[in-house]
Amino acid sequence: MALIRLNNATVSYEGDLAAENVSFSVEKGDYLVILGENGSGKSTVMKAMLGLVKLKSGEVIHSDGLKKNGVGYLPQQTRIQRDFPASVEEVVQSGVVNRLGRRLFPGREEKQRARQQMERLEIWEMRKRPYRALSGGQQQRVLLARALCATDSLLLLDEPVTGLDPETTAEMYEIIRNINRQGVAIVTVSHDVGQALRDAKHVLVMERTVRFYGETEAYEAWRRENG
Ligand code: ADP
Ligand code: MG
Repeated sequence: MALIRLNNATVSYEGDLAAENVSFSVEKGDYLVILGENGSGKSTVMKAMLGLVKLKSGEVIHSDGLKKNGVGYLPQQTRIQRDFPASVEEVVQSGVVNRLGRRLFPGREEKQRARQQMERLEIWEMRKRPYRALSGGQQQRVLLARALCATDSLLLLDEPVTGLDPETTAEMYEIIRNINRQGVAIVTVSHDVGQALRDAKHVLVMERTVRFYGETEAYEAWRRENG
């Protein structure tokens, strides 16, 4: 069974359709890249997967396993988020809040989980530093660690490399590839076709509705025909 499935999901903002009849699914361990111009509905699709926007019609189905294991999310960045006045450790720990249930503060288990993710992304040494003092690439690693606190099965990454220099971009893709190899399904929005597609198993091209959805090789052929 798919981790998550969208059936003809349609979202509109104040009457304007942002995503129409979107259908696709994400399997265990999958790697899906979402492509499309600015304003084509990529972020909206991610928000629909997370239940952050209301559907006008259609449905989003989460598997029982996914409901239990949670979804990690790295939102598209804004200036305000980059200036967030908190330490690295605090930002990462804020990722375990959805595991707390009715408790208010993280206990030993959650702190341990946050530590594991910081070690996994090699930011443990900088845990006391203010988040806003870090480089763009370091900040993205912090947000990735935060997202990983929430899940072992599915990560949604909205433009994780936008604004990063080529070297840091390549590093981010390598980190994401390794996380995927550890069994975490990846859904990522990207502008950069070349690098993102090297690791992808599936591709979704948005243009308010779905222009293409299928395996990466089929996408390459489709692109040659549709330029
Ligand atoms: P993308 O991520 O591909 O750039 P979005 O999903 O953010 O595209 O946006 C799709 C369309 O919906 C755009 O026309 C955008 O202006 C519009 N839109 C996005 N969010 C909102 C919102 N909160 N309220 C109104 N319109 C929105
Ligand atoms: Mg977007």
